[in-house]
Amino acid sequence: MGRLVSLRTLGVLLAVLAMAFGAACGREGSPGGQPVAGSPVAQNVQVPGSPTFAAIQQRGGRLVLGVKNDQPGLGIQDPTTGQYTGFDIEIGRMVAAGLGVPPEQIEYRVIPSAAREDAISRGDVDLYVGTYTINNSRKQRVGFAGPYFVAGQDLLVRADDQSITGPQTLQGKRVCSATGSTPIQRVREQNLTQNVVEFQNYSQCVDALRGGQVDAVTTDNAILAGYAAQTPDQLRVVGQTFSQEPYGIGMNRDDAAMRAKVNDLLQAAENDGTWTRLYNETLGRSGTPAPQPPPIERY
Ligand code: GLU
Repeated sequence: MGRLVSLRTLGVLLAVLAMAFGAACGREGSPGGQPVAGSPVAQNVQVPGSPTFAAIQQRGGRLVLGVKNDQPGLGIQDPTTGQYTGFDIEIGRMVAAGLGVPPEQIEYRVIPSAAREDAISRGDVDLYVGTYTINNSRKQRVGFAGPYFVAGQDLLVRADDQSITGPQTLQGKRVCSATGSTPIQRVREQNLTQNVVEFQNYSQCVDALRGGQVDAVTTDNAILAGYAAQTPDQLRVVGQTFSQEPYGIGMNRDDAAMRAKVNDLLQAAENDGTWTRLYNETLGRSGTPAPQPPPIERY
């Protein structure tokens, strides 16, 4: 009898361990995504005339990649394993591989929206991949390859809130977004509400939304979809986009050679199906089917 009980206890213990292991590997309930098969690492790559590439080589082939770490589906770091997953991360790894840099030679540096232009122009990162909208004012300070994705500004609200149905319903509402982002700028320019709350990161806005300190979070739909998917019974995306946010890979403004090389790599990934595979294994898991990849705009 005693032996039977201990066997049963052992069984329960094993089940609990298996669940914990599953969570640690980024399955159900974990903010991390599943591992994605890497792209083949190119050999003997040269990018003549690229100061960024020269810096990577001088560092012994280590590439410093600027990312976000709190945007599920796009760029998120699993607190348990330290692993980064998401579409932005996979695009970054694909580009690194095309530059001859294997994934273990990537050093991730977390940079919030407001610090991107400074970090890139100072050379703190070689490349930046993190929901970074290409626009003319940013082009004064940084270079962009891409776009590799087009999002649109949307709203995240508490699931039981029926009063917010689009940007024109925000008057008198407390709306949260990230410092230095295009969505917060648009809320102010279009005077959508007087009551703007700002944080460094969208996850802080989402906490404030859950806690009732704000009524809506506004940023790109792709980012908001990732937060809504974590607790669909509590949060929902309104689903009326009111901008176009073409995502680019940020880099040194004057490094035209690197810009052309990264555009070539994005184009190849879009042509050979890699882009769609990376989308399906990250953002696509929340249910939105893969769109057509956007045309690369060279300038
Ligand atoms: N795509 C927008 C931007 O670049 C919002 C997302 C973000 O802040 O990263 O500002």
